[in-house]
Amino acid sequence: MAVAYIGLGSNIGDREAHLKSAVDQLVRTKGITPRRVSSIYETAPVGYTDQPDFLNAVVEIETTLEPTELLAETKVIEVDQKRRRLEHWGPRTLDLDILLYDQLEVNLPRLKLPHPEASSRAFVLVPLAEIAADSSVLSGKTAGECLADLEDTAGVDLYKRNWVKLDL
Ligand code: ADP
Ligand code: MG
Repeated sequence: MAVAYIGLGSNIGDREAHLKSAVDQLVRTKGITPRRVSSIYETAPVGYTDQPDFLNAVVEIETTLEPTELLAETKVIEVDQKRRRLEHWGPRTLDLDILLYDQLEVNLPRLKLPHPEASSRAFVLVPLAEIAADSSVLSGKTAGECLADLEDTAGVDLYKRNWVKLDL
């Protein structure tokens, strides 16, 4: 059994509904048990900035899946959301990233762990530190420490607490 952290992001359509359905699908996936969910944060886009603001959150899971199996399941959830978008004629996007998987370091073309953005992006560190400030996101550095190192966290605003209930 491993503990992993999944970053969720959506910036089109009913963003909160997309995050909720991602958590629902994680709950329904065999070998994945969500344990904690961060608040939702509204975040300004980084990189390509000419796009709508994101909603971001982080989910802590327990999993019996290997890292590459977990990646495959997150891709299934992303594709399933796109399929439903086509059915409902509405735009929606959903991004799931594996931020951490235990203390594992992986450097495959398709899977890097910890996620390369985990230690530097406020939109990852703020929700991650909320539920796992002591998790190691960079050799010897915790999420809380990396967050404290950031110049500022402007552009990452609390949007909603307690937005999903897990039956633990
Ligand atoms: P981004 O998340 O950077 O906006 P994508 O969701 O399209 O873009 O991801 C691009 C690729 O990143 C995926 O196809 C995946 O194979 C790869 N990748 C590498 N490391 C990870 C990780 N830790 N979690 C999720 N995807 C990853
Ligand atoms: Mg991604």
